[in-house]
Formats: sequence, C-alpha cells, structure tokens
Amino acid sequence: MSTHPLLAVENLVVSFPVPMGLTDIATLRRRRVRAVAGVDLIVNRGETLGLVGESGCGKSTLSRAIVGLVPTEAGRVRLDGRDREGMSAPDRRAWHRRVQMVFQEPHASLNPRMTIGQTLGEVFRVHRICPPAEIEARVGDLLEAVGLRRDFANRRPHGLSGGQCQRVGIARALAVEPDLIIADEAVSALDVSIQAQVLNLFMELQRARGVALLFVSHDLTVVRHLCQRVAVMYLGHVVEIGPADAVLHAPLHPYTAALVAAIPQPGKQSLADTALMGEPPSPLNPPSGCPFHPRCARAISICASAMPEPRRIAQTTVWCHHAEDTPALQPERII
Ligand code: SF4
Repeated sequence: MSTHPLLAVENLVVSFPVPMGLTDIATLRRRRVRAVAGVDLIVNRGETLGLVGESGCGKSTLSRAIVGLVPTEAGRVRLDGRDREGMSAPDRRAWHRRVQMVFQEPHASLNPRMTIGQTLGEVFRVHRICPPAEIEARVGDLLEAVGLRRDFANRRPHGLSGGQCQRVGIARALAVEPDLIIADEAVSALDVSIQAQVLNLFMELQRARGVALLFVSHDLTVVRHLCQRVAVMYLGHVVEIGPADAVLHAPLHPYTAALVAAIPQPGKQSLADTALMGEPPSPLNPPSGCPFHPRCARAISICASAMPEPRRIAQTTVWCHHAEDTPALQPERII
C-alpha cells in the first residue's frame, strides 16, 4: 500500500504581475503580488480538508494552482508522490484527470448552448472513458448519482436552478472518476436550504466513492459540518492546520480564533469587530515577520521581525510565536 499522501503541495508560490503605475514606468520596475507565499499542504486519500480564510487570502489561487489553472512561480504539486512537472503529455493528462474542480458559479461554469447531456457526454468522449454507444446510459447514471432525473440530459443550463446546475458541475467532475475534487466556494452562491442538499451530496459521494475533497470556503460553519481537517490561510500563508475539532473548537492561532469568534451565533453578539482588528494588509506590501502582526492583539516585538516557524501541538501545526502559551483562544466561542 502507498505511504504517500494523495496530494502533497510543497512550498508553493504563486505571484501575479501588477499593472505598472507612473512610478513603476519611471523606474522600469515590474512589481508582482504574491497571492500564495510558500504553502505546504497535504490531502490524504478519501479525506475532506477544509481551506478557509477571508476573501483575498489566496485560498482560491492556491486551489487553482493545484489543478494547473494558474502558473506557479516555485514549489511542487505531487499526486501519489508524482510531480506533474516534467511529465510526458499523456502522463500529464492522466494526472490532471485525477484532480477535478467544482466552481463557485454553477451557471457560469456550464456552456449555455449545450444540453446537460452534451456537456457530460463530452467528458466521456474527450477522455475516452467508454465506447460512444454507452455514453447516453453513462450520462443518465451520472445524473442519478447526483440526485437528478435522467431526462435532465435534455435540458440546457438556463432551465436549471442554481442547486441543479451545481449538481451537474459535480457530475462533470465525477465523470472521470477522480481521486480528488477541489470545490472552490462550491455552495456559496446557493440558498441555505440548497447548500445543505449539495453538502449532503458531497458527503454521500465521498462515502460511496472514497474520493478526497479539498473544500475551499469562507464559511466555517459549513467547513465544520463537512471536513475532517482544516487549514487556515492568511495573506498567502497557511497559519494553522489540524483536525477540524481542534482547530475550530480550540484554535491556537489568534487569526483562527478571530475567525471563529466572528461566526454569528443565535443569542450572542458577534465579536467580529473586536476580535479581528482592521483590514488585511495589501499583498503588494506585505508586513515583515508574522503576516498577521499588524492586526494581532497578542503581537510582541519579535512578531514584527521574525516569521514564526511551524510548531506542532498535538495534531495541529501552527505558525505563531505564542502557540505554546495558547492552549485555547476564545474557548467560549464554540461552533
Ligand atoms: Fe500574533 Fe505574533 Fe502569533 Fe503572529 S506570531 S499571530 S503576531 S502572536
């Protein structure tokens, strides 16, 4: 049996060029913004890892870099120990087939001119998954697997609700029988009642097919419901990663604690304003030392100058100079 994690991301860096302003043109300086600043992450076979953080923290860029939708500047992405860089074209195609993505906007991710049957059938054709004569039946099976009737194959996206479109998006990802699905804010655009149905579908499919899930979301309540482990990102860095129970019930990093404190709870006033001070700094001009230090109520002088090394506490890894002194921040705010 393989001892590798299914997915291993090692020191991944993604940066984008910034449009040149007048000063840049005068100095001929080309600036880049680092959206992902050296991330290490693993996803084990069959598990669900939640990737959380405020909007703009780099979680969507990281997930797109993993599937190859945005170029990486440095680092490696391995699947079963195999790096896709340097692979032959057929091996690379096979690599990509094993990692599929479900997007946030269900309608926008489907071609409005194609029927659902054509959209799903194309996946079977392009990847030569089955003989052409079997495609129609396979499409019907796939639709049933995601809780839609077989006759949905004849409809076009505009005739479907957001939840039905997202089920088609999940069916399209499942068509190639992937080992890992990356769901990028896949339920954020849906009504709450539909969200619950789609989340249950993810859980059922995972149980039935053993597929691993990297679930990218800003919604900690959803992540708590679905995920076994959670990674928290801030300004392009992972700052805490561990079992969902530990990270979300007894956070060790002040940023995680602030996110947990910001979750609205019936009968309790949100602590969002007091827990998380100010706005995230610009990734164009990231702070020195710990990236969270300008907003951290626990910051001391070393925090502004030295990036914390990762510390392992029980099953959680946390990047904070104070982690050992912080058995549980905000323990009263349990979700
Ligand atoms: Fe706060 Fe310092 Fe920990 Fe960063 S290293 S989270 S600034 S206490």
